[in-house]
Amino acid sequence: MMITKAKDILKSVFGYSEFRTLQEEVIKNVLAKRDTLVIMPTGGGKSLCYQIPALIFDGLTIVISPLISLMKDQVEQLTELGASAVVLNSSLSPAEYEENIKLIKEKKAKMLYVAPETLMMERTMNLLSSLKVDCLTIDEAHCISEWGHDFRPEYRQLADVRSRFPEAVTVALTATATPRVQQDITRTLRFSESNVFIASFNRENLFLQVIRKNDPFEQTLKFLKKRENQSGIIYCFSRKQVDELYEQLHYLKFSVRPYHAGLSDAQRKRHQELFIKDDVQIIVATIAFGMGINKPNVRFVIHYDLPKNIESYYQEIGRAGRDGLNADCLLLFGYGDIAKINYFIDQKENEKERRIAKQHLNDLINYAEFYDCRRKPLLNYFGENYDKENCGMCDNCTKPKEELVDITIAAQKFLSCVVRTGEYFGAMHIVDILRGSKSQKVLEKRHDALSTYGIGKEYSKEQWLHLSHQFLVKNILKKDYEFGSLKVTEKGREVLRSKKKVFGKLKEAEISSAPKESLDLFYDKELFEILRLKRKEIADRLHFPPYVIFPDKTLIEMAARYPTSTDMLISIHGVGAVKLKKYGKAFVETVAGYLEKHPEIQTNPDGTRLKLRKKSLAYLSYAKAYKNAKSINKLLSELNVKLSTLLKHLYTYVLEGKRLDDSLLLNETSLSKDELKKIFSVFDRIGFEALSPVFEEFNKSIDYDNLHIARIIYVNRSNK
Ligand code: ADP
Ligand code: MG
Ligand code: ZN
Repeated sequence: MMITKAKDILKSVFGYSEFRTLQEEVIKNVLAKRDTLVIMPTGGGKSLCYQIPALIFDGLTIVISPLISLMKDQVEQLTELGASAVVLNSSLSPAEYEENIKLIKEKKAKMLYVAPETLMMERTMNLLSSLKVDCLTIDEAHCISEWGHDFRPEYRQLADVRSRFPEAVTVALTATATPRVQQDITRTLRFSESNVFIASFNRENLFLQVIRKNDPFEQTLKFLKKRENQSGIIYCFSRKQVDELYEQLHYLKFSVRPYHAGLSDAQRKRHQELFIKDDVQIIVATIAFGMGINKPNVRFVIHYDLPKNIESYYQEIGRAGRDGLNADCLLLFGYGDIAKINYFIDQKENEKERRIAKQHLNDLINYAEFYDCRRKPLLNYFGENYDKENCGMCDNCTKPKEELVDITIAAQKFLSCVVRTGEYFGAMHIVDILRGSKSQKVLEKRHDALSTYGIGKEYSKEQWLHLSHQFLVKNILKKDYEFGSLKVTEKGREVLRSKKKVFGKLKEAEISSAPKESLDLFYDKELFEILRLKRKEIADRLHFPPYVIFPDKTLIEMAARYPTSTDMLISIHGVGAVKLKKYGKAFVETVAGYLEKHPEIQTNPDGTRLKLRKKSLAYLSYAKAYKNAKSINKLLSELNVKLSTLLKHLYTYVLEGKRLDDSLLLNETSLSKDELKKIFSVFDRIGFEALSPVFEEFNKSIDYDNLHIARIIYVNRSNK
């Protein structure tokens, strides 16, 4: 069967053991020579859908791609895998061009990457019509559609090109989900509907979070400090903002470069290259950055300013985590940005344009303000239903759910204070009055004599600012774009007259991070860094981006499994036969050298190894201390440590298969035997790795400390 062959190639060439969603179905369809349209989100794995058939087909596969940089990248990667591919485009020297033509004629190349205008040249057509062409691939197929964001007139003519290769099956691929564009592609290319494959647009590995933008630079710093050595993109609204943020970060010695349309082509190209080659970690950019970048290990995307609409937001965050490992997407959400965008929208002449832009903005605000799983509004926007209770990968799903509460009284206090002071002041001053401050400004203006003076002491200053931000977003309060003074809107007056209620949140969210993956807990960070250096050294020598050698995930697996022979290496994600031959020795030697320097890393009878890391040693000491103290409370009073930290260490201890005294543990919880039993059966059913779904399952009636202890007991009992 051809599909068995496809599976062999998946492992032997690409080094992967499983197909991703839809890949197998698509490949089957293509191999049966049925024209196919593939719609998958960025990073979904579209390339394999035509590359594997190309390696199976006898004849040539032509791959049409709009961007020279993408073609170059793909051909480099394929060549490294030992799959022969060449490129024809205007950037080649005459000698290179001739060389590639020769490879095609001699049937030494299985894939030809070509720009549409090059393909349409008579000379290229003549060359190709004398050859057996089995597959015509149209990558970024949305370029066919005028409704797409990236229309290319040359793409329209591809329908005619199709008729020049009657033997060839056509595969069109895109990440654009809108039905309009899909229809345009199938109609233009005359595909039948039954051969359209649409994957879900849910990118499970992206951690989505939105926080109130109150001090964006500090918030960004805090976020970055936890992400040393990670690649990421920070998107800003304007060139000016990009330059400013770049200067600030650069001054603080971050590895960072700017990117926007105001820089020269050469500068932009250089900055992009540095980023792709892991020579620079962070790019601060306007939305001009990202098209044509395939870098798989972008670990975070920050929106420093509000994106234009949900579609661009989705595209921009889509650049993170292509390698399938978790990545963080942080949106800083500030009312100032809404006001700014509104201001620009109002400048538009065309009424219809204004209306559409406002709708887009509203959709985005709804997303940012959403209190339930963020995947719901996001996927809904693309016409998909997301009905999972808890995604485990967004801020709203991972923190204890906070219900929206009635904040009408707070709103009334705030709004009436705004009215009493003549709608003349900003939020800071209003909060000072509400909290009964004796600041100079308050006393000077005699605002201590107002009836609203000191009526809001129940909330802190920060809480009031958080509340006022919600009032602005909910449009019961408005800020003068020029002077910063607050005004009560029509809707706000209804609130004052108690005709409308206001619901919102009292507690402000903190920046969090994507949950750690299980692999993440157990790999050797020190070895990973050494392997990264090795990879970089090889990549630089060959003038490749490091990911062309091996993706991060491969190195992480190596750092978890310590392969010291090529036999062990071949079973690792992303290691195929050709790469094994090329680089296997270098990496195996690196691992062996590392093991020699670390005799404390034990080898288990089954050949697996486990390193007792510095951090890991802590959990051993805590477990020992607990065994001595025989009580968590006693231990807490002896040691200066938080309960949550202690529980975490004990959990790690039992996870590693070690035993604690069951009866001691039972003393630590206030839960009854019955309750414990119920929790265990939930663990059995939905897993125990993440506790928030379990917390939800019990309608929040069992607190987290008890759940943590229950989990330790549960895992401990499974250790024999
Ligand atoms: P797209 O073109 O849809 O944006 P790519 O084809 O570039 O995505 O694939 C994204 C990443 O996923 C690449 O690094 C690719 O090697 C990897 N990938 C694709 N298919 C698989 C698979 N079956 N198993 C593991 N990784 C895969
Ligand atoms: Mg692609
Ligand atoms: Zn969620």
